[in-house]
Amino acid sequence: MQKLENYIDGHLEAPRSGRYLDNYEPATGRVVSQVPSSDGADLDAAVAAAERAFVEWRRSAPDERSRVMLTIADRIDANAEELAQAESKDTGKPVSLARALDIPRAAANLRFYAAAATQFASESHSMEGGAINYTLRQPHGVVATISPWNLPLYLFTWKIAPALAAGNTVIAKPSELTPLTACLFSKLCQEAGLPNGVLNILHGEGATIGQQIVEHPSISAISFTGGTVTGATVARTAGPMFKKVSLELGGKNPTLVFADADWDKALDGAVKAAFSNQGEICLCGSRILVESAVFERFRDDFVERASALRVGDPLEATTQQGAVVSEAHMKKILGCLDLAKEEGGRVLCGGKRARVDSDRCKDGWFVQPTVIEGLSMGCRTNREEIFGPVATLIPFDTEEEAVGFANATDYGLSSSIWSQDISRCHRIAERIHSGLVWVNTWLLRDLRTPMGGMKQSGVGREGGFEALRFFTEPKNVCVKYE
Ligand code: NAP
Repeated sequence: MQKLENYIDGHLEAPRSGRYLDNYEPATGRVVSQVPSSDGADLDAAVAAAERAFVEWRRSAPDERSRVMLTIADRIDANAEELAQAESKDTGKPVSLARALDIPRAAANLRFYAAAATQFASESHSMEGGAINYTLRQPHGVVATISPWNLPLYLFTWKIAPALAAGNTVIAKPSELTPLTACLFSKLCQEAGLPNGVLNILHGEGATIGQQIVEHPSISAISFTGGTVTGATVARTAGPMFKKVSLELGGKNPTLVFADADWDKALDGAVKAAFSNQGEICLCGSRILVESAVFERFRDDFVERASALRVGDPLEATTQQGAVVSEAHMKKILGCLDLAKEEGGRVLCGGKRARVDSDRCKDGWFVQPTVIEGLSMGCRTNREEIFGPVATLIPFDTEEEAVGFANATDYGLSSSIWSQDISRCHRIAERIHSGLVWVNTWLLRDLRTPMGGMKQSGVGREGGFEALRFFTEPKNVCVKYE
């Protein structure tokens, strides 16, 4: 059985305790490797290495940081197929998706922030009477990044890239459920010549090593992506220690379809938004609000497309829906489907565990793409994040009602609006409670734009210079020269 290793001070290491956790392949339900169960001793070693490395890394020229990051991006490209296979094996996602989205985006994250490192500048304010202020933007020191299992390498690199570009050294914790690509990434950092200790990767459970990272007194800033409940725990721990925290949390995102929408594009967009990555993307549109005049036609077409999605072995090129990440997560999703039925929902397709017709995947954790109608806006199914291949359909009569329904959750991450009335789209975009609004598209991302949510979807924004601002401390210097 392969034993994965932590990456500390430039070296691959076994956990000091010698303890490991089983790592499962969701498509088969079998253990495929063992992941370090790191603890405080590993963390202390990683922090000490990061503190040593910070002395030089903070002084290195942005060009030099940029050069190493570009080399790592090239190493990702060169190993893209191995990384895609590993990502698919670890998460259950179709390998085609890992090839098309996860791995190219990981390289793009490194390249984007390698370029940003050379472009990031600070402000200056001159005053009447002969004085000038300038703002230094200095790295914090040792910072932490904690990332989830749904887009493992994509979100891992999305966090470490701006942290490193800004001159910090990093303690990174991937999800214990999906450690494989972060392990491979450690080796790519070694090959690329990233100085020892600049990036340290610790594996293990969130409740133990994750919590210890948040509590560590030498870690001054934490960038966290994960569930809202965990985000609250991170905030509770970090708040009294006055640590800087960025929280990217869950969503219950609406897709708004108006009668005048381009029919095929809206249908394709709504299906993609609901079921991509088995619905395990924080930005997925799980509540589909449809104008009453076209509700029945849209519902029938949507159900036809959802039922046609091919659930299968993630390693097969034709598979559109893979396994969900764990047995516990599958049971959570199935529990949500029971709740939806208790709440009066009518299941139009799916609604059950899917059985894949292959010997390899016969015990895998698959869920049928599921569409439900007949639920009120206020019920739990329409308010709570399921994070699986489950969408609800809700009719609305007026634009006012659509906005009210869209905003009727505690979350505020993303939304998509489908209509050819562009004035209406602008009006709704202005009124909707979400950090991201897509109009006649979904998941079209420009890495320069602010990414994040409002309400219980998080605090702060990632993306572009926002992330470099998060990972630096502004210091104003006021100089009187007359
Ligand atoms: P999670 O359970 O909250 O875990 C996220 C990360 O936090 C994992 O690495 C986890 O480690 C770690 N963790 C758990 N408890 C911790 C603690 N007390 N202190 C520090 N770290 C701790 O979330 P998940 O189930 O992995 O991911 C799904 C959630 O992430 C969904 O709610 C989804 O919407 C959200 N998400 C949000 C965004 C966004 O940009 N807003 C993007 C993607 C996902 P272990 O897994 O090893 O326990």
